Amino acid sequence: MSTFKELGLNEQLLQAITDMGFETPSEVQEKTIPILLSKETDLVSLAQTGTGKTAAFGFPMLQKIDAQSRTTQGLILSPTRELCLQITNEMNSYGKYIKGLNIVAVYGGASITEQAKQIKKGAQVIVATPGRMKDMIGRRMIDISKIEYCVLDEADEMLNMGFYEDITEILSHSPEDKSTWLFSATMPKEVSTIAKKFMHTPVEITVGSKNVSTEAVSHEYYLVNTRDRYAALKRLCDANPDIFSVIFCRTKRDTQKVAEQLITDGYNAAALHGDLSQNQRDLVMKSFRNRQIQMLVATDVAARGIDVDDITHVINYQLPDEIETYTHRSGRTGRAGKSGVSMVIVSKSEVRKISAIEKIIQKKFEKKDIPGGMEICEVQLFHLANSIKNTKINHEIDMYLPNINEVLIDFSKEELIKKVFSVEFTRFYNYYKNAKDLNAPGGSGRDHDDSDSKDSTRYFINIGGKDDFDWMTLKDFLRDLLGLEKDDVYKVDVKDSFSFFNTDTKHEEMVLGIFNDFKLDGRNISVEVSKDRGGRGRSGGGRGRSDRSRSTRGDSKRGSFKSEGGSKGGFKKRGSESGGDRPKFSGKSRRKNEKPQNTGTGGRRRRKG
Ligand code: ADP
Ligand code: MG
Repeated sequence: MSTFKELGLNEQLLQAITDMGFETPSEVQEKTIPILLSKETDLVSLAQTGTGKTAAFGFPMLQKIDAQSRTTQGLILSPTRELCLQITNEMNSYGKYIKGLNIVAVYGGASITEQAKQIKKGAQVIVATPGRMKDMIGRRMIDISKIEYCVLDEADEMLNMGFYEDITEILSHSPEDKSTWLFSATMPKEVSTIAKKFMHTPVEITVGSKNVSTEAVSHEYYLVNTRDRYAALKRLCDANPDIFSVIFCRTKRDTQKVAEQLITDGYNAAALHGDLSQNQRDLVMKSFRNRQIQMLVATDVAARGIDVDDITHVINYQLPDEIETYTHRSGRTGRAGKSGVSMVIVSKSEVRKISAIEKIIQKKFEKKDIPGGMEICEVQLFHLANSIKNTKINHEIDMYLPNINEVLIDFSKEELIKKVFSVEFTRFYNYYKNAKDLNAPGGSGRDHDDSDSKDSTRYFINIGGKDDFDWMTLKDFLRDLLGLEKDDVYKVDVKDSFSFFNTDTKHEEMVLGIFNDFKLDGRNISVEVSKDRGGRGRSGGGRGRSDRSRSTRGDSKRGSFKSEGGSKGGFKKRGSESGGDRPKFSGKSRRKNEKPQNTGTGGRRRRKG
């Protein structure tokens, strides 16, 4: 291991480094800095987030530029305003002993004239987001014709966000013989493409293993009739109670319409599109970051600026006109080491576009079914169970307890649980019990399309995302455990604390046998036949009852769906699926007219990474 001094940094920088408390160079710094200091070269450096890439390009750039000259010599492009400001701050700390140094941040959403004024004073280094940069070059507010160093920071993110054209345009104004340094956490195909296009035999540095972030996104599509598109969207959301998502629409109008409809139906949704003022957009983004908004309905252009990690689902309510845009959309999820799902709702006439997208992303889509009403009820029920389990007790209630106990004195714990669950569950049950099958017939015919037949069994299992499973790893786990072949376990749907999967019915006895007394890390794992067979709603009203009778384990540990008492409770069915208000678990959803402040009463728990 070397010291910063041994890497060749000068006194001014070393002094600043001491001030900042950096003791030893990180690996990417150790590998990158000597190369950049010793020669003029293009460079591609791949290292995970948080490994110190800013200093890896920042130190050499500051050492090499001439702070006595007022000419702009270095340009750093970064994907978001936040990063742009962060890099500028870091660079200012690194360069605090360099006399005459002027580093200017250029980004959207702030006064362009103010930024132009700063630059006019003579900025040796500009840190910029691509959109604003392109804008200012176009207005001749910035001259980058003499830059010697250009950094593309977080190149993968910039491309994900659709900045390819902007970057190309910006670089066309820069000199041919500059050095370009590209930094990225991952090396998807698009990044190697720009490396090829903009760089000459770059030195390549990799720290750690190349992180294959695109592997973290699984792609699914749902085939529906056009008129059922919105109902399908709602079911996808209801089937994922912890969803934290961006929903993409094609036009501003549709974006607004879908968001309004979702809000009316009781979801925490908002629209993000170009007709909103910058101020409004900032507010929406703030609520989204705070998770006051669970579903952000956005146009492609407006979504460019979204730099939120932890997005669990991207939903393509409509496919983009340019299928290339799909990559940018799906790249909003599966970030920072987490897995994500990109869902596409397609009609029959669009389904061929799926294969075209598969060619671009070089990954296969899984054709999935819109969840049936009963599956959603199960999901919501267990979500409720987990919410209750995780709720912190509010001791303000204590003083009322004697009286409350009095009212409920005649009931056993068992009965109380049933009643508590019925309060919430009956609404969902009534809403969804006659839900029709939203899946349009047809499609590509792959992925067990026929699993709806009576030869397939759907199971519930009480492990999920919380146990670090995603659908791929759970599928592998089950297959190995059950000794089945690759495609014998299918329709694997992982929720936060539980999951569903299917096998052919001939395996049912074996599966239940194996899980009859199965422990994972000391925990009892239970598997039961699900009420829902994998998304396909059957023929209406009688379904709840008849399905109930086929449960293999009547005395299931999971609360039962028997609705006795439920209908007496007087919870009215709340409108039809295509229009009216959806049933809600109290505390979870916020109505339009309520204040957007987070009440802190739970409901929006963050999915664990
Ligand atoms: P990256 O760009 O790779 O995600 P950053 O450059 O933002 O990482 O650095 C992450 C954090 O680590 C920053 O707070 C930075 O100040 C700090 N840091 C960078 N290099 C060192 C070092 N050699 N020693 C200690 N801290 C460092
Ligand atoms: Mg960085």
